[in-house]
Amino acid sequence: MTKQVTLAKGLKLDGVSIALGNRILLAVDHEAAPGEVLTIMGPSGSGKSTLLAYVGGFLDPAFRATGRVFVDGTELTALAPEDRHAGILFQDPLLFPHMSVNGNLLFAIPRAVRGKAERLSLATAALEGVGLAGLGERDPDTLSGGQKARVALARVLLAEPRALLLDEPFSKLDADLRQQIRMLVFAKAHEKGLPVLLVTHDEADAEAAGGAVLRIG
Ligand code: ADP
Ligand code: MG
Repeated sequence: MTKQVTLAKGLKLDGVSIALGNRILLAVDHEAAPGEVLTIMGPSGSGKSTLLAYVGGFLDPAFRATGRVFVDGTELTALAPEDRHAGILFQDPLLFPHMSVNGNLLFAIPRAVRGKAERLSLATAALEGVGLAGLGERDPDTLSGGQKARVALARVLLAEPRALLLDEPFSKLDADLRQQIRMLVFAKAHEKGLPVLLVTHDEADAEAAGGAVLRIG
């Protein structure tokens, strides 16, 4: 009989262990409550991006992984990647260069949201929510690094993720901006009740996140 799992809300990494060859890269058995951040700290090559790939469902077959990942009691690891609805932010904002800012945002809105006007109004509100009201028609190439990071955040939130996965998304920003964007990302996660899994090698990220910190590598 299948074991029934009843979990509180939030993100749970249940006995997750990832190996490469005969080397165990990491073992994680931790949770992040809605709106809170679980930080995994480790040096380059320690398996941080690999862990996010496992949670997101795009782990390279070179790795062997065991353990399960849940959000609000739903087992993500039992779902296809596209059904997991994990919102990911990387070091680079990865905006689509051939689309306007609004184009980038509209692209992320789930298809279930019908009607051009409704979609545009969601995109407009999201842009305003990250402090960029009025920049919808801009070409992403014309934005500053901080503005691009804000658009990437607005875009990931519009996709209605169940959780946020952050792969060192602040590391390319300079110090002042890094602090600003960090606080904005954490504030949005809190406002929307999204659990966050942050991987980083920056102690200041872990401190600002304010949640549990696990060290690997
Ligand atoms: P981090 O994000 O902490 O810098 P990664 O998760 O990217 O580390 O990588 C962890 C380890 O796995 C590193 O030793 C890296 O070289 C190795 N690695 C990453 N991707 C692959 C792959 N597709 N095949 C084999 N080894 C890989
Ligand atoms: Mg990495």
